Amino acid sequence: MKVRAPRHEHKFRQSFLNQWFLCPESARRKHLDLMPPETNNSNLVRGNAVHGAIEWFGGEWIETNRLPDAGDLIEFGLNEFELFANEDGTVWHQDAEQVEGAVRGNLDMWYTEVLPQLDRPTDVELYFNKVLYEDNDRVIRLSGTCDWIQDEWLVDWKNPSKAPRKNEMWIKHRSNLQSHVYTWALETPKFSLCHLSQPDVAWTHMERGPQDHAALTDLCLSVAIQIEANLPSAIQQWDSWYCSPKWCGAWDTCRGKFLGEDPF
Ligand code: SF4
Repeated sequence: MKVRAPRHEHKFRQSFLNQWFLCPESARRKHLDLMPPETNNSNLVRGNAVHGAIEWFGGEWIETNRLPDAGDLIEFGLNEFELFANEDGTVWHQDAEQVEGAVRGNLDMWYTEVLPQLDRPTDVELYFNKVLYEDNDRVIRLSGTCDWIQDEWLVDWKNPSKAPRKNEMWIKHRSNLQSHVYTWALETPKFSLCHLSQPDVAWTHMERGPQDHAALTDLCLSVAIQIEANLPSAIQQWDSWYCSPKWCGAWDTCRGKFLGEDPF
């Protein structure tokens, strides 16, 4: 009797799919634990502190039906900043004072410009892990964490070090993967990226439906099949900010083998 090969089980975090977009070879290495662990850095410190404070604010609003004031929000964010900034081995791409100022500025901006557009959320930082696809050969699960959920609308907070350019916005509007994954997982068609960037908040509003989700399934299937092929390498994608010694943990053993530590 012919014995069937076991089904392949894929668990894709939304961030893994983004990594695949950036560079398939870097995603393959991450998937196989061939990358050095990521170190804490000033971008993560800024993002985590702002996220932590907004999550706290949303949680208070859900629990008490009252809005904390701006001072409490900023104080919470600065305490988070202290916690994250003191992690051993943090790499600072900007001065700590600048990052602390950005945390304060972004939270102030969120309170004055973004909060008036929001309703009381039903959830904040909601984790999901769901089966997207299965057949006799494979099952594919997708997981992620959605920042802000309210009636008919999902929002994700971004804390870029620079304001996004117009040409970044149209490509996000067309192809942003997070919006596909989150609208599918939470069955809510409207999704917005809220860039807390000085001097103005920049929004990208998107709406995704069944056809987008069918295309997402097809994309995930193509990634799964490439992983199952167990090839010794994937496509190297040079054409992004990520392919550099500063960002890619595989640099030394990939493109950096030829170009060295200071190529650009
Ligand atoms: S060095 Fe460049 S090509 Fe190689 S894995 Fe990193 S991003 Fe991809």
